[in-house]
Amino acid sequence: MSLLSVQHLTASYGAIQALFDVSLSVNEGEVVALMGRNGMGKSTTVRCISRMMKSQGEVVFAGADLTKVPSHKAALLGIGLVPEGRRCFKDLTVSENLLSAARAGVWNMRSVVELFPRLGERVNQVASSLSGGEQQMLAIGRALMTNPRLLILDEATEGLAPLVRQEIWSVIAKLKQETGLSILVIDKSVKELKSVCDSAVILERGITVWQGTMSELSADVTEQFIGV
Ligand code: ATP
Repeated sequence: MSLLSVQHLTASYGAIQALFDVSLSVNEGEVVALMGRNGMGKSTTVRCISRMMKSQGEVVFAGADLTKVPSHKAALLGIGLVPEGRRCFKDLTVSENLLSAARAGVWNMRSVVELFPRLGERVNQVASSLSGGEQQMLAIGRALMTNPRLLILDEATEGLAPLVRQEIWSVIAKLKQETGLSILVIDKSVKELKSVCDSAVILERGITVWQGTMSELSADVTEQFIGV
């Protein structure tokens, strides 16, 4: 059953239309890649799903019509967003960042620190003193602390060193295998997306041009729409 169903989404920045016809779905326990070249509308789609931006079309999450729900309520319904640019509260410590997002559930300080031991070693450090990779771990940790039903990762490995990127991919694989969390992932690394995701959606100029399982995603399609 679909946890998230997006149908015929359109959205604009003022007079500039960014999304023309985006459809995608994420089933319970599924990990879906949202792919496409730069500027094709991936982040805009995520902003619309998390209600940071107004849109037209259908966005149904866990049976609720999200287009009728303000953004703070969307988070309460169970969407955990790790936005592009790994936003955390820079002046707060690691533990303050995590605790300020906390909602009841399996994810708490202990389980997040178990997933990211490096955060455990830095609980009293302010976020601004962390490395880029550690800040990304904190951003993911914060989203998990809300105990989401759907985790959305927008360019979570962007700009990170290869080893740290690998760590983040391992965590995504672990979340999939061990917790069955539903995840929507945006990333530029086709190879990693193919190894972790069950299915993919490709956007081209604000339109869904391809949807299918990862095993159906051929080299031709990848080359046509992603340019790899
Ligand atoms: P990237 O991989 O580069 O982040 P993307 O696929 O996430 O790209 P979006 O950021 O959603 O693409 O951008 C889709 C379109 O909307 C682009 O044409 C972009 O220039 C435009 N756009 C994005 N953000 C804004 C904004 N704040 N104001 C105006 N136009 C925007």
